[in-house]
Amino acid sequence: MRDLSRRNLLKASAAVGAGAVVAPGLMAGGTPGIAADGSGVGVDGPDSAVDGSGAPLGARHPKAKLTGRIVRPQNPGYPSASLGWDELFVHYPLVIVFAQETQDVVNALTWARQNNVALRVRSGRHSLEGWSNVDNGIVIDVSELKGAHIDPAARIARVGAGLNQLEAVTTLGEYDLAATTGTEGSVGLSGATLGGGFGFLTRYLGMACDNLVGAEIVVASGADGAEVLQVDPWKHSDLLWALRGAGNGNFGIVTSLTYKVAPLKRVAYVQATWEGLGDLYRVFDTWQRFAPFADPRLGTQVEVHKSQILFFGVLAEGSEAEARHLLEPLLSIGRPEVTVQIGGWGDVYAGFQIPTEDEPANWKFFSQFVQEPFPRRAISVIGSFLADAPSEDSNYFTQAFGTGMQRREPFGGTAFPHRDSLFYGEPGIGWGTRGEPDSGDALTARAQTWIAEFSQALRPYVDGAYVNVPNIGMAEWEKAYWGHNFARLRKIKAKYDPHNVFQYEQSVPPATC
Ligand SMILES: Cc1cc2nc3c(=O)[nH]c(=O)nc-3n(C[C@H](O)[C@H](O)[C@H](O)COP(=O)(O)OP(=O)(O)OC[C@H]3O[C@@H](n4cnc5c(N)ncnc54)[C@H](O)[C@@H]3O)c2cc1C
Repeated sequence: MRDLSRRNLLKASAAVGAGAVVAPGLMAGGTPGIAADGSGVGVDGPDSAVDGSGAPLGARHPKAKLTGRIVRPQNPGYPSASLGWDELFVHYPLVIVFAQETQDVVNALTWARQNNVALRVRSGRHSLEGWSNVDNGIVIDVSELKGAHIDPAARIARVGAGLNQLEAVTTLGEYDLAATTGTEGSVGLSGATLGGGFGFLTRYLGMACDNLVGAEIVVASGADGAEVLQVDPWKHSDLLWALRGAGNGNFGIVTSLTYKVAPLKRVAYVQATWEGLGDLYRVFDTWQRFAPFADPRLGTQVEVHKSQILFFGVLAEGSEAEARHLLEPLLSIGRPEVTVQIGGWGDVYAGFQIPTEDEPANWKFFSQFVQEPFPRRAISVIGSFLADAPSEDSNYFTQAFGTGMQRREPFGGTAFPHRDSLFYGEPGIGWGTRGEPDSGDALTARAQTWIAEFSQALRPYVDGAYVNVPNIGMAEWEKAYWGHNFARLRKIKAKYDPHNVFQYEQSVPPATC
């Protein structure tokens, strides 16, 4: 994940303007309530003659035209409209449609099907294998769907699928409300939530997808069309289950997301730095044995760099004294430099963001879930790979799971399976300079080899992978991402996308294929 060492605490108080523009067209429709209990449900009444939207499988739709903000290769804005966050991957789509309302998405999907053009769905552009873009195809981009409707009394937020995480966190923060997101503000809320979504609030509020109680989604319909579905725990509940952890580009194009949100007035944000890797074993071992079992209000990350160990912790509704007390086992190791900040979650979150232009151009990550504490040997692997890392922006990133709220599934269940993990772990490397094409090329082979060998060396100690940080070339990726849920995902795919319109390198195939 991101290199947090450059976080600037001083910026924390600078409130960031959020995209809280209400888009009335987007916000039509009721807000689903939340039930208190429940369990996983089956695939709702599949019928072989119709698809998930109820349309006959062979039904034809009127000819569609592209609408919205359309960018083609001949337009001056094309290079920036096409470029993703990870510049390692460059694509040349035929056309990019920036939807301004749901109907633009319906038109784009229908047009793609009627013209037999490959399609990809895109929101925040952070796909770590470049899979939200495609050569010669259409990119259906929802990032300009920025509506937000927050009902503080009902603790429900319905937002457009184009918000990024910073916009979502700061918008909710204005109401002293929160839902779990990942740590990097520029990541799309859609992409993060639909693949699971974890961050500092995961142990307190569950996964981002656990807070998702409804969605508007455009699915393929009939032989060549598209249709809008409203999904909640009672309507198309099987599809909601699938969207909670396997929704990225697999079933349709999500145009709005409805979250259950929680009150959160303030957090204590703790940052600690140990210079050098001399304390690595003691810091890592202490962290992995206490942080996953600590007070569930405490979310923590350890990042091991070439010449530093960094720790970040957020204690929801906590004071400085309480945070220091909880973290005493860790902070008493060696002589870390420690800072503590108390503030609203929106302000703290905005304060630790790094501008994208300051980040390396190219990135490669490898995702792994960890069930048992790393033995000394595994921690040594981390130390020796980092000491020998080919770029300064290399790290080993972690996020504590353990006994937090992410253990409890929401009503209706989710496709996300890694609830009992001790922590998430991720070797990562960044290189090259943004705005200078080819600047990283000389390092690309070494960087790719380093991360492949690093993740391979940790394989004996890990189990499972994170679909939002896909591992290309991994055998049995289906099982690694979704475990036993994969079979059910394939059935739901067959119901809602029987023609396999939504497909990419590691997409869920329909059960009948
Ligand atoms: C720097 C960095 C830090 C990260 N930190 C975290 C973290 O702390 N926690 C965490 O959980 N994850 C983290 N991630 C992973 C992140 O969750 C995924 O990269 C996420 O899928 C990106 O979503 P996006 O919308 O930005 O990307 P996109 O490239 O737009 O989309 C990613 C995938 O989602 C699909 N998709 C996007 N929008 C929709 C939609 N509306 N409907 C259907 N499918 C859609 C795309 O087709 C694609 O398959 C991080 C990633 C990066 C690059």
